[in-house]
Amino acid sequence: MGAIYVDSSVNRAKINLDECVECGACSRMSNETLNPHLVRSVRSLAKIFRFRFEPEPDVCPTSAFVIDDLPYPRIVRRIFSDPLIEHTSTGIKGRGTEEVKTNDVAHRVSVGEVGYVIEFGRPGVGVRFHHIQTMTMALAKLGVHFEGKNPITHLMVDRSRGTLKEDLLHEKILSAIVELKTTTEEVPAILETVEKVSKTIDTVVALGVSTRCDQTGNDPVLAPLLDDLGYDSERAKTNLGLGRVTNTRNGEGNISDEHSASVR
Ligand code: SF4
Repeated sequence: MGAIYVDSSVNRAKINLDECVECGACSRMSNETLNPHLVRSVRSLAKIFRFRFEPEPDVCPTSAFVIDDLPYPRIVRRIFSDPLIEHTSTGIKGRGTEEVKTNDVAHRVSVGEVGYVIEFGRPGVGVRFHHIQTMTMALAKLGVHFEGKNPITHLMVDRSRGTLKEDLLHEKILSAIVELKTTTEEVPAILETVEKVSKTIDTVVALGVSTRCDQTGNDPVLAPLLDDLGYDSERAKTNLGLGRVTNTRNGEGNISDEHSASVR
């Protein structure tokens, strides 16, 4: 995030807390736990004698980075940015859900439907919640169905309007994924909206769309539609339909023999 900088007035590295997303990468660097006074003295001497030394970039000699206890709403930065933290909303480590990776047993995207993953902030740019809200509000106007298990959906106060919790809007996170689905007919309007909004917000946006293949593993609907709309799509992930439902207590049905695939 470029949050760590050297404050020339005190000749010390500091962290710009507004830009820091609490990912924890700095504190996970290997720490040598050396005495700070010793390290600074050696560095001063090296500077006087103009020694050049190239320490390992991922070693903090003095264990200067510590993890703070964070209050709400700042803790949400860590939940969305540190890959080792589990989302309380989804119970998984990660920013989204399994998308169509388990569509063979979850049946999230049915025939005639298209699933979308809209990713913000990656790589290395970050995103604030108000940027995400700009997108979700524009999409909500189209009457989309936001995925209920997705962490961003979990933070919405009004899914019909796509509004997020107000006290989070300024918080910055490493990245986030919005997941939704529509019918195939709505694809052009969704893509147009995502493209239009992505040009107005100060972050990077990547879009993935997914659909079910026919019995032969081909996608006769979405791929031609994307071509017609001028998108150079590639099949990126293919769910072969080999999943097996092991818990049928909730009435989950038979294994689907259809295929799903996503293009990204
Ligand atoms: S927690 Fe992450 S964003 Fe914050 S200073 Fe460390 S590496 Fe940078």
